Amino acid sequence: MFNLYHCKSCNEVFASTPFDKYPEYQDLSEEGVLMEKPLDDSDILMVKHKGHDLEELKPIPGTTISERDYCEPVKEVYFEATNGRKRFVIKKWRKNVNEPMEYKLIHGSLKIIVYSCEVREGEIKKEWLRVMPEPLMEKAVIFLTILKETATEMKAGKGTRMIFETLNPLMYYQRFNQQCIKTVLKKLKDVVTPLELKEIRTFIREQNQADGVIPLMIRKKFFIEKAEEKEVQPEESAACMPSRIKPIPVRIRPVEYQI
Ligand SMILES: [Zn+2]
Repeated sequence: MFNLYHCKSCNEVFASTPFDKYPEYQDLSEEGVLMEKPLDDSDILMVKHKGHDLEELKPIPGTTISERDYCEPVKEVYFEATNGRKRFVIKKWRKNVNEPMEYKLIHGSLKIIVYSCEVREGEIKKEWLRVMPEPLMEKAVIFLTILKETATEMKAGKGTRMIFETLNPLMYYQRFNQQCIKTVLKKLKDVVTPLELKEIRTFIREQNQADGVIPLMIRKKFFIEKAEEKEVQPEESAACMPSRIKPIPVRIRPVEYQI
């Protein structure tokens, strides 16, 4: 958890986290004993921006997005935050793991769209050839054609219960829903025998799972829709705020600079 501040005078964003107050340990003694050196980065930043026009920003839950995997420590991350009157995009990054996070405020909003919805042809064909009985081997192409036709009719990105997440926030797998499976089987009825249809039904049931090959690979991408830098009036702000986000009173603690 962290508090985010925007200095409107310098147009800088900085964060204050509990880690800012952790001491740093350095070998300061002649005997080589580690000494505790008190540190408080948040106070240093408060001193830098003392007397400036500061406002607190509240990150909006569920808006964080990045092109890189969740586990990567050095990457650019974007999320939305509000000052209680207007939403902004915040870019967060650091140059390497030893450097503190840096932040930049961007006037605009994050837009996320599904841009690719792929039937994993190669993986399905490989699994089909591995498990299907001999007479069905040559029908893999027919099955894939019907599966692709049905996939285009499916609404990608809808129904979170059908989704399997991956390590990347912009990629996930989506199961075929029952309606789509029924459609696939109905179309196959005219081109395979009843016994073959039974085999295919079992194949779909077993493979339309998290570790199976049937779920579609969905890729999303995001962009920032730029907005004007004007200050929003109180009566305009209601339309762009989620109802649970209330205007935030600025609670900046004055910091006395002592030499
Ligand atoms: Zn400042």
